[in-house]
Amino acid sequence: MAKELRQIAIYGKGGIGKSTTTQNLTAGLAESGKKVMVVGCDPKADSTRLLLGGLAQRTVLDTLREEGEDIDLDAILKEGFKGTKCVESGGPEPGVGCAGRGIITSIGLLERLGAYTEDLDYVFYDVLGDVVCGGFAMPIREGKAKEIYIVASGEMMALYAANNISKGIKRYARQGGVRLGGIICNSRKVDREYEVVKAFAEELGTQLIHFVPRDNVVQRAEIRKKTVIDFDPEAQQAEEYRTLARNIENNTNFVIPKPLTQERLEEILMEYGVIDI
Ligand code: ADP
Ligand code: MG
Repeated sequence: MAKELRQIAIYGKGGIGKSTTTQNLTAGLAESGKKVMVVGCDPKADSTRLLLGGLAQRTVLDTLREEGEDIDLDAILKEGFKGTKCVESGGPEPGVGCAGRGIITSIGLLERLGAYTEDLDYVFYDVLGDVVCGGFAMPIREGKAKEIYIVASGEMMALYAANNISKGIKRYARQGGVRLGGIICNSRKVDREYEVVKAFAEELGTQLIHFVPRDNVVQRAEIRKKTVIDFDPEAQQAEEYRTLARNIENNTNFVIPKPLTQERLEEILMEYGVIDI
């Protein structure tokens, strides 16, 4: 029987922890036997380095630039931790062209080269920044990713960004089948963080799918170019990422988000002491 392929896009403000969280949770899925592909959609091209453990990965755009159109799949797809398939879209040279173009090109090329194999359980798209427009909406616009998680924290800017991303998702949800599966809280250790992110998620009509604590083992693993699950499988933080992976695996709660008005968002932020007016 053909498996049901779940294609998932991860959004969130820059620096919030999308790439770290994505790689750690996919390590958790891979560890439990799932077949996963991770497509980095950020010109920074750092969406797969922890899975690849330092293995040199050339981006799709660089490969095309250097080798032309006639390339094999293994030139752009490398196997990382427990067989995870890793791709980096890359971006145009700084200041030249649309940074979202790499995503469009990469998805097209992956399709053409047969990367979306039947044995896959998941494809994750780790998408840059807090804009759901143009090229960055690509994974959801083209009906590739049907499922979205937003990484946020209890900080004001992270919640503003999450609300804006929800507006974008809502727009594409009307025409396609894309749905929000939840908010991942990647903790910044601010006061009442769990409560504010949970309240925000519920107001959006979704759920807090997991609260990932902040822990320096993430940095210790990162220095060695590893996920926490790979670097220190016994660590409590590794268990947190496994729980997040399990919650996503078992998730059945998919919604069209109801973005908050600016006033309502500020009300919630004030109620939990995130902002003080
Ligand atoms: P993004 O992909 O959203 O831009 P990253 O995943 O690159 O963000 O995360 C930025 C930095 O935050 C990483 O270099 C990592 O060291 C740190 N980080 C992310 N999540 C955690 C965490 N739960 N605990 C400690 N540090 C974290
Ligand atoms: Mg990133």
